[in-house]
Amino acid sequence: MKNISIKKIVVYGVELILNEPYRLSGGRLVDEKIDSTIVSIETSEGITGWGEGCPWGTRYLPAFAGGLRAGLVELAPVLLGKNPLQLDKINQLMDFTLAGHWYIKSALDMACWDLLGKYAQQPLYTLLGGLFGEHIIFQSAIYTGSADEMVAQVQLARKRGYTHFSAKIGGDVHQDIERVRALYATLKPGEHIIFDANRSWLPGQAIQVMNALTDINCYFEQPCETLEECYTVRRFTKHPIILDESILQFQDLLWAQHKGLVQGIGLKIGRVGGLTKARRMRDFCVATGIRMNIEETGGSQIANAANIHLAISTPQEYRHATIDFVPLHNTITATDHHKFKARTVIPSDDYGLGISPLMQTLGDPIAIYD
Ligand code: MG
Repeated sequence: MKNISIKKIVVYGVELILNEPYRLSGGRLVDEKIDSTIVSIETSEGITGWGEGCPWGTRYLPAFAGGLRAGLVELAPVLLGKNPLQLDKINQLMDFTLAGHWYIKSALDMACWDLLGKYAQQPLYTLLGGLFGEHIIFQSAIYTGSADEMVAQVQLARKRGYTHFSAKIGGDVHQDIERVRALYATLKPGEHIIFDANRSWLPGQAIQVMNALTDINCYFEQPCETLEECYTVRRFTKHPIILDESILQFQDLLWAQHKGLVQGIGLKIGRVGGLTKARRMRDFCVATGIRMNIEETGGSQIANAANIHLAISTPQEYRHATIDFVPLHNTITATDHHKFKARTVIPSDDYGLGISPLMQTLGDPIAIYD
């Protein structure tokens, strides 16, 4: 057997300055810049794989850039000398070394997948299951505002080519009912909208809003903070429910599926610990009929590439839309040959993730392990 081993791991920090402040549901949790971490893993044969981890600020998830980099201090030395192509073994070793903290492992796992693609001389979508459908569709986030303001945002996003929208609601029950009605009424044929509360409702508020809108045919996303609260909402409402922030590990998904709580998930690669774990959840969702928005928690072209490959290798009837974070900040950390057209994308056939890093953007390393 060919003896391939990890010789060097290099860590870079990149600040992504947002074009406009990003507001989670109800206008809370406003971020103006996002800290992203990029890693390279170099093998004994001089081949380099790339990965990115971007937990999107400090308050969206139980995850943050400083924690990610501190975790790499624990994990990176342990991976030196190991075979990066044996993905499940690499992940088992990371889980034995550092319990939980899924988001810390994603960038390392991603770089190993990039290497696997380069060694196999295949694009990642082939290794993840194959090319399903002609392209994947990007959705536009619609920030919380008055009903009129949110309708105006949809009109602007439509002009920019979007047909899929994720409207962030929450904050006031009566305003939310008004927002949903106004936004739903503004949709044109072929357009889709999801109403994402980003866990801002108490169960009673979610039940009030959703039961006032039984004539509106739509999905509601992450109504409340915890799985148990969302389960209460499930029992007293009829709309299909998407879980996003609540799904941190496979067991969360298993519980939610078993309870009949979940009809869709936001499958964010960084949040669940990387492509290896996300692929496992993706396959479970396909096996049990759960629809997915396959996404990243944030980042630039490197994280986006992983997202694109995982999404396109998922049967299209099981995936809805994904997010392109690059237009939110315009920072270019890598070039690629993916074909972007009218808010859709087809991944390139280049090996691995199909990206080439721009070293002038990455700057000097913040840590080197060798
Ligand atoms: Mg969401």
